[in-house]
Amino acid sequence: MQRSVVIVGGGVMGAATACFLARDHGLKATVIERDPGYSRASSALSASSIRQQFSQPVNIALSLWSLGFLRRVGDELAVAGERPSLGLVEPGYLYLAGSEAGAATLRQQQPLQRQQGADITLLTPAAMARRFAWLHTADLIAGSLGESGEGWFDGPALLQAFKRKAQAGGARFVTAEATGFDSHGGRVRAVRCSDGSAHAGDAFVLSTGAWSATLAARLGVDLPVAPKKRDVFVFDSPASLPGCPLVIDPSGLWFRPEGRGFICGAPPRCIDGVSDPDEPPLHAIDHAQFDEQLWPALAHRVPGFEALRLRSAWAGYYEMNGFDHNGLAGALPGWDNVWTACGFSGHGMQQAPAVGSALAAQVAGGSSSAPPLDALSPQRLLDGRPLIEANII
Ligand SMILES: Cc1cc2nc3c(=O)[nH]c(=O)nc-3n(C[C@H](O)[C@H](O)[C@H](O)COP(=O)(O)OP(=O)(O)OC[C@H]3O[C@@H](n4cnc5c(N)ncnc54)[C@H](O)[C@@H]3O)c2cc1C
Repeated sequence: MQRSVVIVGGGVMGAATACFLARDHGLKATVIERDPGYSRASSALSASSIRQQFSQPVNIALSLWSLGFLRRVGDELAVAGERPSLGLVEPGYLYLAGSEAGAATLRQQQPLQRQQGADITLLTPAAMARRFAWLHTADLIAGSLGESGEGWFDGPALLQAFKRKAQAGGARFVTAEATGFDSHGGRVRAVRCSDGSAHAGDAFVLSTGAWSATLAARLGVDLPVAPKKRDVFVFDSPASLPGCPLVIDPSGLWFRPEGRGFICGAPPRCIDGVSDPDEPPLHAIDHAQFDEQLWPALAHRVPGFEALRLRSAWAGYYEMNGFDHNGLAGALPGWDNVWTACGFSGHGMQQAPAVGSALAAQVAGGSSSAPPLDALSPQRLLDGRPLIEANII
């Protein structure tokens, strides 16, 4: 059994791993986090939604396990009688298909999702019009709805709940920026930080989110993970949308209720000939995208949104794995005592409970009821075996 674990990066992946190491394996990790305010961390800027509508079995399995955990989170992460509450709601995701090809994809994926236990129903345009009277369905061919088990929750609160539970179990969160490693013979011995400190351990976890490639490069490992900015717009609308799920429109637009209003977004546009650059500043919100692309698409899909009012916007980085848009979780190739969990490309918040539990078991040499992480092993980078996920938002 590993005795002393050092985790670099205290976002939801690092905090979840530290929590399960302490709670389930009695290991008190040291977590090195450069920004305890999480001002640029994906975990603090997430839309924090959960779905089961994936094309890869491992993604469905991890999200289903995490869903169960989130439903029981008050028991799972209670500390000294205080039970965290994440406000999980389950109105579903509604994927819309506007073409025969899109509808065929939904029809093809649904049996696998249902077989794994996801509560997914295919809907005709007429059925959607009956259930969601506010939705424009005339140009749709089909829809796919999570009847339960899909929705959204308070992601930053989940991060804090993992952190508190980890600390209650003896984990130590240290404010420092990791810059390199001491190593010998294929084993890392210590993490070195910019303030001159060094943190020795028997096992190491890299969970540095969108910035994971920088640190992995210090170990000679090429991780194809980069910070890709995603804008989220917050708007109010006088329209009433009873039962509104998170809607994925064929145009690329997504929207869902948030508090008394709504949030929405879409993949970034090509600006000045540059498409989706690495780490643009977070304050550089593409407001023109909302005016020129998103508002028309919103008003088309929900006529009641014609009178919407933009309230605010924020941006965060997807920790994008350019190889195949899936998480990289498991042992770091070439090293005996280093693991990673990064590159979840926009679905890491919902999978953090399962990934944290499974990774902690790997590091501790113990067991977990979470699904195995084999399909997400970083070894697939070296083997040239991408795990293509069709349902990327
Ligand atoms: C706009 C947006 C919407 C999203 N929507 C969803 C969603 O609906 N559902 C979903 O499941 N996921 C969603 N995601 C993705 C999800 O938020 C991420 O997958 C998840 O938060 C990643 O967590 P992490 O711990 O890996 O990364 P982070 O939260 O970024 O944590 C990494 C931490 O490492 C620290 N760090 C980095 N380098 C160093 C270093 N050298 N030394 C010390 N510390 C370091 C950083 O400061 C940071 O705190 C969304 C993300 C964004 C940006």
